[in-house]
Amino acid sequence: MDNLEIKSTKKMNGNELKMDKNKYWILDGHNDSMIAIPRQKRSFSERSEIGHIDKPRMREGNIKAGLFAVFPGFTKKMLRKGVKNWFEIVNEKENELIQIKNYKDFESSQAEGKIGAVLHFEGIGGFDGNGKLLHYYKTLGLRSMGITWSNKNKFGTGVSFVGKQKKRGLTEKGKDLIHEAQSLGITIDVSHLNEPSFWDLIEITQKPIIASHSNSRTVCDHPRNLTDTQIKVIHEKHGTIGINMGMIFLNPGKPGKRDTEMGFDVIKKHIDQIVSFSDINTIAMGSDFDGVKTPNCMKDCAQYPKLFDYLSENGYSEQDIKKISHENLLRVFSKTWD
Ligand SMILES: [Zn+2]
Repeated sequence: MDNLEIKSTKKMNGNELKMDKNKYWILDGHNDSMIAIPRQKRSFSERSEIGHIDKPRMREGNIKAGLFAVFPGFTKKMLRKGVKNWFEIVNEKENELIQIKNYKDFESSQAEGKIGAVLHFEGIGGFDGNGKLLHYYKTLGLRSMGITWSNKNKFGTGVSFVGKQKKRGLTEKGKDLIHEAQSLGITIDVSHLNEPSFWDLIEITQKPIIASHSNSRTVCDHPRNLTDTQIKVIHEKHGTIGINMGMIFLNPGKPGKRDTEMGFDVIKKHIDQIVSFSDINTIAMGSDFDGVKTPNCMKDCAQYPKLFDYLSENGYSEQDIKKISHENLLRVFSKTWD
């Protein structure tokens, strides 16, 4: 699946790249670009100095597909509006995006020279309780969804950013909906769930799950990050954890604080910690680009090849980086879709 032609660039922003950046194409597990681009009044097709993602920078960073989130999803109306906007951006010819609806589309999108966009919902509070909207959005190609954002809804409970872990978990409606979604071939995302909801989900899930954009809580004690026990069980379920590039989720010792000077070593610390409670098959990329403030070393999506350079110089093999960059997440989709 490496047939998208991009000329090998040895120099990026004045820094020498050690490896051929085309070696590792990236499937990024979470971005908020569909929300950010219209808000920031910029175009996906043109290179911008603001935000993290646009077509030229995705090409430069060798990101060939991603989960593009619809957010917020608190109400039916919000979901409808978010989906309308999502398709407007994907269908704009100049953007050279294409919707990924099935597993084989990862390959065909690259053959066509397009950037693949997976329709993902970050919270489904706007769904009705009887599964009608779930079925409707599946017909539009919904392939991945989180039950909540950092709020509670009729299906489950999200983790509050201020750290209060409420006792409420998944509701009975939520359990039924997850069962139905998994049987429809929709991947379930546990990022943003509080711990009781997470453990309720672990009990009922019949398929591998993803934490699309969450880091290690041992390294950075933020409630949005995962405990070692959660990491272990995601691994046991053959799922993946996408590394979030947000400073507030990375900062070791100072969770929630921004430090623009953090380096690739901090990102590696999270990867090391997650690997130590799982294995290399559990790590994926889940940048949260265009939804968080990132350190300078990951100032936009074009920096990915430099991160992989760093990892390859610090103990991660070529095979490991292939897994991290796209293979692990593809494996979960191959097991959860259709
Ligand atoms: Zn999020």
